[in-house]
Amino acid sequence: LYLVIQQKFTQRMHDKRILLSTPHMGGEEINQIKNAFDSNWIAPVGPHIKNFESELSKIHHKKHVAALQSGTSAIHIALNLLGVSESDIVLCQSFTFVGSVNPIKYLNATPVFIDTEIQTWNICPEALETAIKKYIKTGKKPKAIIVVNLYGMPCKISDILQLSKKFNIPIIEDAAESLGSKIENTFCGSFGDFGVLSFNGNKIITTSGGGAIISSNQRLIEKAKFLATQAKENCDHYEHREMGFNYRISNISAAIGVGQLKVLDKWIKLRRDNYNFYFSLLSSIDGISFQEEPNSFFSNRWLTTILIDESKFKNINSNILRKKLEFNNIESRPLWKPMHLQPLYKDCDFIGSNVSDKIYKKGLCLPSGSNLSKKEKERIENVLSDFFNLK
Ligand SMILES: *Cc1c(COP(=O)(O)O)cnc(C)c1O
Repeated sequence: LYLVIQQKFTQRMHDKRILLSTPHMGGEEINQIKNAFDSNWIAPVGPHIKNFESELSKIHHKKHVAALQSGTSAIHIALNLLGVSESDIVLCQSFTFVGSVNPIKYLNATPVFIDTEIQTWNICPEALETAIKKYIKTGKKPKAIIVVNLYGMPCKISDILQLSKKFNIPIIEDAAESLGSKIENTFCGSFGDFGVLSFNGNKIITTSGGGAIISSNQRLIEKAKFLATQAKENCDHYEHREMGFNYRISNISAAIGVGQLKVLDKWIKLRRDNYNFYFSLLSSIDGISFQEEPNSFFSNRWLTTILIDESKFKNINSNILRKKLEFNNIESRPLWKPMHLQPLYKDCDFIGSNVSDKIYKKGLCLPSGSNLSKKEKERIENVLSDFFNLK
C-alpha cells in the first residue's frame, strides 16, 4: 500500500505545477524591447513610456496618465497630490491587498478601514457614509477615500461618487486588479479623482513590475511625473524645493507594456472563459457561490474566486480544498486577508459588520491565468470533480 501511495504521489509531483496567475506574453513585447535596445533607451525616460501612457489614456477615456514603478507608488503619489499628511484620516476598503494601504502609513496618516458589501465584495457605501459622518463629527474630516475593484469586480462606484460629492472628499480608485473592467462603457480606473493601475507579474498584463496613475487633471499628472523624478526643478543645476521620489517606470518595462496592451482584450476573454469553466463546473453545488456581476458590470475576471459554505458540507471547507489542490501540485490561495485583521493595522478603526471577515474565511482563489492550457484545466476539473463527488 505504501508503495502504491508513494507511486501516486511521485506521479502527481511529476505533473507540472499549475500556478494561480503567471505572466503571459503575446509575442510583440520582445520586438518592443529590441526596439528600445536598438535605440539605447534603457533608462527611466524614453519613447516607449510616452507610447505606453498614450495607449493607457486611450482605454481610460483620454484621461491623463503617468506610468510609474508600481501600483503602490501610484497610490503614494496620489495621496501626496491630495495633500495627505501626518495625522490625516484616510478611509480605505479593508478587504484588499496591503499595497492599497501602506502608502497611507508612509505619510504617517491614519487609515480607517471600511467593510465590504456582499454583492461585489468591495467597499460598502453605507459603512462608508457612517465612517465619514463619524469623523466629521469629531472634527477630523477624512482627507481621501481609497476604493478597490477586487479580483476585477467594479465596486458600487455610483453610490460612492455621490458620497464623495456630498461630503467633498476625493476618491482614489485602486484599479490594480481591474484593468479592462467596466460599468456600462466606462472603464475602471477612470471613475475616481485618481485611478491607479498595477502591472506586477501576477496581474492581467505585466511589465515585470510597474504601475500608473490616471486623472482628468493634466496639471496633476504633470505634477505626478515631477514628484516621481525626484522633484527636480526646471533649472540648469539640480534645484529641489519639494521632496520627490524615484518612481518613474523604466523604458524597458514600458516597452513590455506596449506589447502587452495589444493582447489585453484577448487575455480578458481567456480569463472570463476560466470563470465560466469554474462556474459551469461548480455553481450548481449547494454551498458554493461566486462573485457574480451585477447588472451592467463587467469584470475582467482577473482571478476566479469561490466561496465554500462549510455548514452545507461534511468535512469540506476552503482550506481542505486548498490542500487537496496542493497535493495535486495545483496552486490556489486564500482571499486577501482584510486589513483590519492584520497585525500591522490591528490598532486602526474599522467600520462595518464583519462581512469581509466572513467572505475571507470561506473564500479561495483558483488558478486563473490567461495561459491555462486545456490539459491543465482537465487536471483541475478532475481534482474538483473528485473532491465534490461530481462524477
Ligand atoms: C497588486 C495590487 C496593488 C499594488 O500594486 P504593485 O504594482 O504590486 O505595487 C495595490 N492594490 C491592489 C488591490 C493590488 O492587487
